[in-house]
Amino acid sequence: MTAQAVQQSDLAVVIGLEVHVQLETDTKIFCGCSTDVADAEPNTHTCPVCLGLPGALPVLNEGAVESAVKVGKAIDADIPEETTFHRKNYFYPDLPKGFQITQYDAPICQDGELAVEVEGERRTVGIQRAHLEEDPGSLQHAGGSIDTAEYTLVNYNRAGVPLMEIVTEPDFRGAEEVRAFLAKLEEVLEYLGVFDSQRDGSLRIDANLSVVDADEIGDDGGISDEALEAANRTEVKNISSHKGAEKALSYEAQRQKNAVQRGREVEQETRHWDESRGITVSMRSKEEEKDYRYFREADLPPLQVSDWKQKLDIPELPDARRERFGDEYGLSEEAASKLTSTKQVADFYEDVASEYDPDLAATWVADNLLGELNYRDMEITDVEDRLGEFKHLIELVAQEEITTKNAEEVVLREMLDEGDDPETVIDREGLGKADEGEVEGAVTEAIEENPDAVEDYHAGEGGALNFLVGQVMQKTGGSADPGSVNQMLRERLDE
Ligand code: ADP
Ligand code: ZN
Ligand code: MG
Repeated sequence: MTAQAVQQSDLAVVIGLEVHVQLETDTKIFCGCSTDVADAEPNTHTCPVCLGLPGALPVLNEGAVESAVKVGKAIDADIPEETTFHRKNYFYPDLPKGFQITQYDAPICQDGELAVEVEGERRTVGIQRAHLEEDPGSLQHAGGSIDTAEYTLVNYNRAGVPLMEIVTEPDFRGAEEVRAFLAKLEEVLEYLGVFDSQRDGSLRIDANLSVVDADEIGDDGGISDEALEAANRTEVKNISSHKGAEKALSYEAQRQKNAVQRGREVEQETRHWDESRGITVSMRSKEEEKDYRYFREADLPPLQVSDWKQKLDIPELPDARRERFGDEYGLSEEAASKLTSTKQVADFYEDVASEYDPDLAATWVADNLLGELNYRDMEITDVEDRLGEFKHLIELVAQEEITTKNAEEVVLREMLDEGDDPETVIDREGLGKADEGEVEGAVTEAIEENPDAVEDYHAGEGGALNFLVGQVMQKTGGSADPGSVNQMLRERLDE
C-alpha cells in the first residue's frame, strides 16, 4: 500500500472457503452409533469409540467413503489410488480423544472445480482439496455466545458424524460469489444424494478473507501467489448458512478495508461470526499447521480407493440436466432452471413429461406446484409421498376431465391446504367437468333467457358472446370448458 490516503475503491477482497458438509450416512464414520441425533437427548448416541475411551478402535464406514468418492467425481477432482487418515491434535472440550481423525497429505479428493453463475456470468471456482473427517461434539454456550456465556455444556451425539471438508482456492472476489457457490455446492451434493440441506448444522463454513490492492487482481480475476502470501488474512469461523456467509463476509470485508484505510495492519487471526450481533469478534491468533502435530492414524490402514472410483456412478448433475431439459423438452432457460433446482423436482417433471405434453408438465410443475408450495413455505420434499396425487391431477387436466382454472385455483390449493387427493376435492366442490348434454342444455337456456344478448350478437356486438359464455359458465358451475362453450354458442347462434 502507498503512503497516500487509500480509497476503499482501491482495495479488493479475496476470499477462500473451508466448507464442512455433513455426509448423509445412517451411522457415524468410525462407529455404529446412529447419526439421527436431531431430537435425541444429549449424549445418548455415543459409544466408547466416539467418546474416545482408551482402547476403543475406529472402523471406517464404507458409506462415508462412497459419498466422498461421488463428491470427488462431481467436482472433477483427482482421486488417488490410496488415501490415508491422520490425527490432528488439539485440546478442546468438544473433542474427547484430544485429536480429530482427519486426512492430511493424501486426501481423498484433490484439484477439483465447481462452476457457478454470478450475475449471469459463469465462473469456475477451484477446489484445492476435499477430505473426510469426523465431527467433534457440540458445545452449548449457556446464556450467550462463546465470549459472553457463563458456562458451557457439551453434547457428544455429534462426535463422529462424517464430514467432508471442502477447501476452495482463494477464488472469490466478493460475498455474493460465496453465496452463489454455496447454493451450487448444496445443489450438487443433494443431487448426489449425500447431503441434506434441511438438516440442522449440515453446512458449516470457515471463510478466509483478506484485502489487497485492487491492482493485484488481473482482468481475469486472477492474483499471484506472492500477493496472496503477502496479504494478512483472517479466518472467520461459525458461519452456518448462505445468508450468514454473505453477512459475515460483507462485515469482515468492510472491517478490513476500514483498517487499511486508517493505515492499520490487519491482524492475521481467527475471528468468530456472532450471528445475533452481526459482527465478527477476535478469538485467537491464527494457529499454524505445526501446532497440530499431525501424524498418521495407526488404527486405520491406508485405504485403496481406485476400485470405488471405478464402480461408483453419479447421476446427471444439475448443469447437464438443465441443458438437456432445454434440448429435449424445448423448455426456456428459466423453466429448465426451475425444474432442475432439485433432483426430486427434476425427476418428477420427467416422470410427468414422459406421459403428457412437456409444456403442460412444465407449467404444472414449475409454475403451479412449485409456486403454490413456495407460497406456503414448503418444499417438494414436504410432499414427496404425494407426488402420485399431483401427477393424477395433471392427468385429469390433460384428459380434460377438469378445467385448468378449477385445477389450479381450487383443486391444487385444497390438496395442499387440506391434504386431500384430487378426486376428493373434485367431488366435494362439484368440479367434475360437465358432460356434453349438460353443457348443451345450459347453452339452450342461456340463449332462451337472454334474447337481448342474442340480438346484440347478431348486430355484431363482440361483448354479447362473452356475456353468453359467462352465463353458461355460471349455469355449469364453472365446470364447462370456456373455449368449447364459445364455439358451441357460435354454432347455435349462426345456424
Ligand atoms: P493454510 O496453509 O493457512 O492452511 P491454505 O493455503 O491451505 O492456507 O489455504 C487455506 C484457505 O485460505 C483456503 O481456503 C484458501 O483459499 C484461503 N486463502 C489463502 N490465501 C488467502 C488470501 N490471501 N485471502 C483469503 N483467503 C486465502
Ligand atoms: Zn459411537
Ligand atoms: Mg491449509
